[in-house]
Amino acid sequence: MLMFDFHCHCILSDGELLPSELVRRVEILGYQAIAITDHADASNLDHIIPRLVKVAGDINRHGGTRLLPGVELTHVHPELISRLAAEARDLGARVVVCHGETVVEPVCPGTNRSALEADIDILAHPGFISEEEARLAARRGIFLEISGRKGHSLTNGYVARLARAHNAPLVINSDGHAPGDFMTAEHARRVGRGAGLSAEEVEALYRRAADWLKQKVQA
Ligand SMILES: [Zn+2]
Ligand SMILES: [Zn+2]
Repeated sequence: MLMFDFHCHCILSDGELLPSELVRRVEILGYQAIAITDHADASNLDHIIPRLVKVAGDINRHGGTRLLPGVELTHVHPELISRLAAEARDLGARVVVCHGETVVEPVCPGTNRSALEADIDILAHPGFISEEEARLAARRGIFLEISGRKGHSLTNGYVARLARAHNAPLVINSDGHAPGDFMTAEHARRVGRGAGLSAEEVEALYRRAADWLKQKVQA
């Protein structure tokens, strides 16, 4: 069964696990790939990304679950997102996530919009994203996230409805910080169904993610 997660955290920010343990734990859950995307701003981008690139080099030589080094730009001013996303790419981030306007944190208004105009891959937990922003995500091929995380998941149904209406790509991520947060393939599909997606829409979402991953790995 296809299974990925492109948004989670290790000890390089506020997660509990070393990258190696995190990857091992999802390997036994049958994941084909995982992106570790630690919280970053200008203070720590150059701390996190080179370390994830280094450990990914080691881990990926031995097969199993593929580790993609990434980052989650978190609570940075909307005007800084584009520059920091470019810096993250230069440092070797394969997956750039932006911490969107979740309803459970005071994320700066305008974050969703600026993130969708920047070189990012995934807008995490976008909260009450606008119709125009959903269209922008579709046009730019940026994934809108259905979150497995408590709190952020409150608007999953809303996000799924707008994504369907405007043909924006969706991805289901755990936003895991601790061992118990990583979802089985079955649970991730329940999260998708719980957001109002059909079983077929959920499988289509994973097939699209698989194609995207293939391009990432070959790039
Ligand atoms: Zn976040
Ligand atoms: Zn996160």
